[in-house]
Amino acid sequence: MITIDKFNFSGKKVFVRVDFNVPLNDKFEITDDTRIRAAMPTLKKIIADGGSPIIASHLGRPKGVESKYSLKHILPRVSELLGVDVQFADDCVGESAGVKAAALQPGEALLLENLRFYAEEEGKPRGLADDASEEEKATAKKAIKESQKDFTKKLASYADVYVNDAFGTAHRAHASTALIADYFDADHKMFGFLMQKEIDAVEKIMKDPARPFTAIIGGSKVSSKIDIIENLLSKVNNLIIGGGMAFTFEKAKGGKIGNSLCEDDKLELAKEIMKKAEAAGVNLVLSSDAKAGDSFSNDAKSIIAEANNIPDGYMGLDIGPKGEDEFADVIKASKTILWNGPVGVFEFDNFAHGSQVVAKAIVDATAAGAFSLVGGGDSVACVNKFGYADKVSYVSTGGGALLEFIEGKVLPGIKAIRGY
Ligand code: AMP
Repeated sequence: MITIDKFNFSGKKVFVRVDFNVPLNDKFEITDDTRIRAAMPTLKKIIADGGSPIIASHLGRPKGVESKYSLKHILPRVSELLGVDVQFADDCVGESAGVKAAALQPGEALLLENLRFYAEEEGKPRGLADDASEEEKATAKKAIKESQKDFTKKLASYADVYVNDAFGTAHRAHASTALIADYFDADHKMFGFLMQKEIDAVEKIMKDPARPFTAIIGGSKVSSKIDIIENLLSKVNNLIIGGGMAFTFEKAKGGKIGNSLCEDDKLELAKEIMKKAEAAGVNLVLSSDAKAGDSFSNDAKSIIAEANNIPDGYMGLDIGPKGEDEFADVIKASKTILWNGPVGVFEFDNFAHGSQVVAKAIVDATAAGAFSLVGGGDSVACVNKFGYADKVSYVSTGGGALLEFIEGKVLPGIKAIRGY
C-alpha cells in the first residue's frame, strides 16, 4: 500500500474525500471549523507537490438539493485556510464539475457541491411512501444501486488518484468513501494524513498496547456501548465504567440506585459482562460513591452517597470524591489509555468534577509517558471544555467511525483502500 507522504502529486488530479460536515449557524456561518482544519495537511501537500485537489464532502443530511446544506457556505473558509482561491462546482456530477475538473491547473483546487444532494452517494432510495410494499422497496433499492454505479464512475472520472481523508465517514460504504476506490489501482489510492493518523492511533492501542491498558467507558447507556465493552474485555487490564451506565451495573450487583438512570432490560447483560471481566482477569472498576442530585438539573440539591445506596428521590449524576481517587489512581498507573464517554453529566458544571478529574489524570499519565486516545463526541467536548485537548496523545475526530473501529469492525472506507 502506498502512503501519502511518499507520493508525488505533481501534475495529478486528485479526488479527495474529506469530512467537511461542519456545524453552521442560522446565518450559515461556520461555528467550528475543526474538521476543515483537520484536512489541511493532506490538501496542502497535494498543492505543494503541484497537484490539483478535487475536494468532495457531504454536509448535513439533505433529502435532495437543499441550499442550506450547500458547501458554497464553507467555500471562503476552505480558500482562506488553504491559501488558494478554491473554485466551486455547484453540482458534484453536473457538466460544469467535469469541465472545471478537466481544466484545473497544477496547484489549483476545486470544491464539489454536497455529495448527498444525490441519493446515490449513500445508495439508499429516497422519497418512498411510508406504506410502500416490500416489492416497491426492493425495486427502488435495486434502481438506486444501479444508478449509484454511474454516479461513482462519474466522480472517479475526474481524477488520476483517490485520497480518502474522511475518517468520520469511514464506517459507511458510500460512493465517495468506499465504492470509488475500485476505479483506482493500488498505486493510485491512499489514505490522507488525517485518516492515517486516526488508524495508527486506534491500532496502536488495540494491537499491541503498552501495559497496563485502561479503558474508561462512560456516557448514558450500556446498550450503546455493549459492543465496545465486549471487544475491550479481551484487550484491557482495567475497565473503568462511569456515567449513567454504571448504575445498571450497580443495580445488577444488588445495589439501591434511587432514581438513577438504569436500563432494566440490560441487568442480565451487565452481570454477564462482570462475569466475563472476571474470567478474563480484567479489573472492572466502578466508583464506590456518587454525587447525586434530586433532579436532572445543574441546580439540583446534591448529596454524596454510596453508589450502591442512593436514596429514593436522588439520581447519580457524577462520581463522588472516593470514586475520583479510585479512577485517578488506576489511570495514573496506566501506560495506555482509551477514554470514551464522560463519567457524569459534565454539561452541568455542578456535576462535571468527576469527568474533569478523569481528564486531568489522563493528562498526568500522558505527561508521564502513557499513550492516551480520547474519542467519541462527548469525551472530546469534555477535554475541550477543560482545555486539555493538546495535553493528551490523540483526540479522534471520528464519532461513530471510531466506535465501530474500536468495536473491532472492519470499516468500509479503510478496507476499500488497504483491503482489510
Ligand atoms: P453517550 O452519548 O452515551 O456517550 O452519553 C453521553 C451523555 O451521558 C452526556 O451527555 C452525559 O451528560 C450523560 N451522562 C453521563 N453521566 C450521566 C448520569 N450519571 N446520568 C445521566 N446522564 C449521564
